Amino acid sequence: MTYRGRFAPSPTGPLHAGSLVSALASYLDARAHGGRWIVRIEDVDAPRTVAGAADDILATLAHFGMHSDEPPVWQSQRDDAYAQAFAQLQAAGLIYPCGCTRREIADSLVHAHARHATLAYPGTCRNGLNGRPARAWRLRVPDGDAACIAFVDRWQGPQSQDLATEVGDFALKRADGLWAYQLAVVVDDADARITHIVRGADLLDSTARQIYLQRCLGVPTPSYLHVPVLNNEAGEKLSKQTGAAPLERNSPLDALVQAARHLGLDASSARTLDAFYATATAGWARRFGR
Ligand code: GLU
Repeated sequence: MTYRGRFAPSPTGPLHAGSLVSALASYLDARAHGGRWIVRIEDVDAPRTVAGAADDILATLAHFGMHSDEPPVWQSQRDDAYAQAFAQLQAAGLIYPCGCTRREIADSLVHAHARHATLAYPGTCRNGLNGRPARAWRLRVPDGDAACIAFVDRWQGPQSQDLATEVGDFALKRADGLWAYQLAVVVDDADARITHIVRGADLLDSTARQIYLQRCLGVPTPSYLHVPVLNNEAGEKLSKQTGAAPLERNSPLDALVQAARHLGLDASSARTLDAFYATATAGWARRFGR
């Protein structure tokens, strides 16, 4: 097997200490396997994309010693690939248009909550739009035992999610006409022949959906490793929304040593970027194999 890994930042702002942890973990896993590491700019959500952020992220990664082994992939240029996957699912009868507004879905979830029922999309439009205009397009998830998706995460251990009761039919095309993250990420990983996904544990909850979508499209399921996310002092995931500071470019080694420490690796003796990557890669390989 030829290892192919990736780091897939959304260009909504500069890299911060939290996203550095995900970048570093994916990079170390690729190096520990002697594999390739590819950066993908996840700018499918155009309204959230910040001008200049992608270039800033790529420059920061390079400054920190992480270079994509292939030209970075930009989701904004992959519309045809998403449309083709969408058409394939449509031809197989797996997707349907949904006329529910956000408000209607929120209300039905509140009712479900009051009844202590599940918080999954209730499948209102499964059997037709009832004269309403189409908004989003959803993937039909199976019922019964087939809805349970199980996988073993290399960091978090055995995982399972019942798509029918915990998620419900999920959107692949949004009401605003944009491709949903779930579709884009699965199509991109498959087209890039990604074998190993290493990313933040905030995406653990999306993984069952992605595995199910891979099965619907007939593409391989990569192996998964979700690293713990870095929290701020208030216990919130470090992100642009919670006010994470951009990485300081003038002290890459310090930031990398900190990120490695969060991953359980001691590289504090390193005095150069090369020494840091050698130590951290060896530590990662001891822990996660090659
Ligand atoms: N673009 C996503 C993020 O920045 C990551 C997606 C992924 O790694 O699958 O949170």
